[in-house]
Amino acid sequence: MPDDTVELEARLEEAESFEPPESFVAQANVADEEIYEEFEENWPECWERAGDLLDWKEDYDTVLDDGNAPFYEWFTGGSLNASANCLDRHLDDRGDEPAIEWIGELGDTRTYTYSDLHREVNEFSAALREQGVEEDDVVTLYMPMVPELPIAMLACARIGAPHSVVFAGFSADALATRMNSADSEHLVTCDGYYRRGDPLQHKEKADEGLGGVDHDVESVIVVNRLGDEYDHPMENGELDYDELISEHEGAEVEPVTRDAEDMLFLMYTSGTTGQPKGVKHTTAGYLSYAAWTSHAVLDIKPEDTYWCSADIGWITGHSYIVYGPLALGTTSVMYEGTPDYPDKDRLWEIVEEYEVDQLYTAPTAIRAFMKWGSEYPERHDLSSLRLLGTVGEPINPRAWKWYYKHIGNEDCPIVDTWWQTETGGMMVTTLPGIGTMKPGSAGPPLPGIDAKVVDTKGEEVGAGRAGYLTVNKPWPGMLRTLYNNDERFISEYWAEYSDTESDDPADWVYFPEDGAKLDEDGYITVLGRVDDVLNVSGHRLGTMEIESAIVGVEGVAEAAVVGGHHDVKGEAVYAYVITEEGYDGGDDLHERIVAGVEDAIGPIARPEEIVFTPELPKTRSGKIMRRLLEDIANEEELGDTSTLRNPEVVEDIQKKVQE
Ligand code: ATP
Ligand code: MG
Repeated sequence: MPDDTVELEARLEEAESFEPPESFVAQANVADEEIYEEFEENWPECWERAGDLLDWKEDYDTVLDDGNAPFYEWFTGGSLNASANCLDRHLDDRGDEPAIEWIGELGDTRTYTYSDLHREVNEFSAALREQGVEEDDVVTLYMPMVPELPIAMLACARIGAPHSVVFAGFSADALATRMNSADSEHLVTCDGYYRRGDPLQHKEKADEGLGGVDHDVESVIVVNRLGDEYDHPMENGELDYDELISEHEGAEVEPVTRDAEDMLFLMYTSGTTGQPKGVKHTTAGYLSYAAWTSHAVLDIKPEDTYWCSADIGWITGHSYIVYGPLALGTTSVMYEGTPDYPDKDRLWEIVEEYEVDQLYTAPTAIRAFMKWGSEYPERHDLSSLRLLGTVGEPINPRAWKWYYKHIGNEDCPIVDTWWQTETGGMMVTTLPGIGTMKPGSAGPPLPGIDAKVVDTKGEEVGAGRAGYLTVNKPWPGMLRTLYNNDERFISEYWAEYSDTESDDPADWVYFPEDGAKLDEDGYITVLGRVDDVLNVSGHRLGTMEIESAIVGVEGVAEAAVVGGHHDVKGEAVYAYVITEEGYDGGDDLHERIVAGVEDAIGPIARPEEIVFTPELPKTRSGKIMRRLLEDIANEEELGDTSTLRNPEVVEDIQKKVQE
């Protein structure tokens, strides 16, 4: 390596902050930093800017009705239809432009222009109606990443039937629980899909789930993805998707006029903890917020080709594959498969071929790319990229810098976006055309978002201190309640920091249940869930902080830290570690990990036990399920594994620990 490269490498390693590239700023959708002040001074009317991104059937009277906090209502008096906003209004200008570029795992592709998508959504809307789906009926979509999933979502939206998407990787049990909770009588599912080139059946799993549904199911529609590869059972009056579409060929269904506050969808969250919560999102607030953040943070323009590599079964896919991008009339890429099939350069091959402008992915993926090595992105021309994004977990600075350098060529801003299923859209992140980026720190709250870091009494902590993240004013994309459970909505998200007897909205504080740290510039570093905190000899340690120290050690790709019982210390640090290619879990690495943690945090955080493992148990969004690792560390019976994407790894790890 010539000397100047070494120097460059060193500069990048050491840098604490990065400015947005000038070329990006010059074209950014939002580039004037006065936006922060404008939103603050003009709150809540500032949110008209989000509302203006939509077409309204009937204009709204009031931006925010906070008369019954925390049951806030947004854009009241207004009415609209989400599918009309994502499709019909683009037909004149963008009818022949691609809305969805779908890429199958085997290399098969499908392009849906806005006209194509509009046509099939209309046809499927007609089919759903014919099956008896009425306005406000919840339709469950248990489907993998096939184009029929966004089509079904938009068809539901068109006829005013809220959808509830259940991630295809979830178990039969998870499907039944969600259909029961939502009293859902209609299911759209799929025969199967491909994983690493092999066909995987899905229909039998759906059938098993249906067996656990406690009420009558009116209709089951099955998409045929695998064709002749899998002769799926259709013995209970199920209907074939393709047949329905051809029966309704050319049908036109007038989009139903929905009240601003009418439910657009339910999304069950339960990735990391117990009982699923049915998060309710509404038509105007959610859609305007997804569109606004897609515009301001992802910098989406209609002529872009934008790619979010998440699964639609996760909120990220709802907001940033389907609703946000399509509301803005852009081209959204949708990939069915895994990032390492047929080879570890699959994503980069797609970026090159489709000339992708923005890529939005998760830290877990970035850590995998890092582990595989930079030779894979180097095989491809990635110069079309203009912006990179991450979501789902804190990203450690080393992974951030790898992403910045090897994918973005030091020429793309990175937005590290903190948000949740419940918030509907992004909440804390830099604006890419304005903010200095600090690797590892998400950034300031977005304009109009009043997020604070507080202590247990709700007092703001100063710079350099850790505490709990809160949101002190409502925002349009917020969840409205937990389905049929207002009580749990309050106890889960508000009770901690609000005066729950008060009628004054100023006394209501939203608690996302995440820990965070604030710096002198008001940047927020999200540390992770508050229950991911260990108590070692009376010291409170965030698992994320220890993990970040471990992942900072050369040769480590990924780490998960949990508390294991310890007679003296109370809790001890247990670390599960995945190594990078070319490293093994020998003594040398073991020692360097211990040294790395002691350097970064102190001897108190020294791991008691380090277990090298090829994989970690993960949720659909790629998050490590720590509570299972905790059960393993404490040799307790394992909790619910039905929402894991890779349940098989649990046993392997258990064996390793017992060795
Ligand atoms: P559940 O709520 O069902 O137990 P979950 O919280 O993992 O599961 P999501 O709503 O998908 O489900 O994830 C939101 C959470 O992910 C946030 O509360 C936060 O803990 C974490 N998170 C998301 N983005 C970031 C980010 N950029 N930085 C740090 N943490 C993040
Ligand atoms: Mg959560």
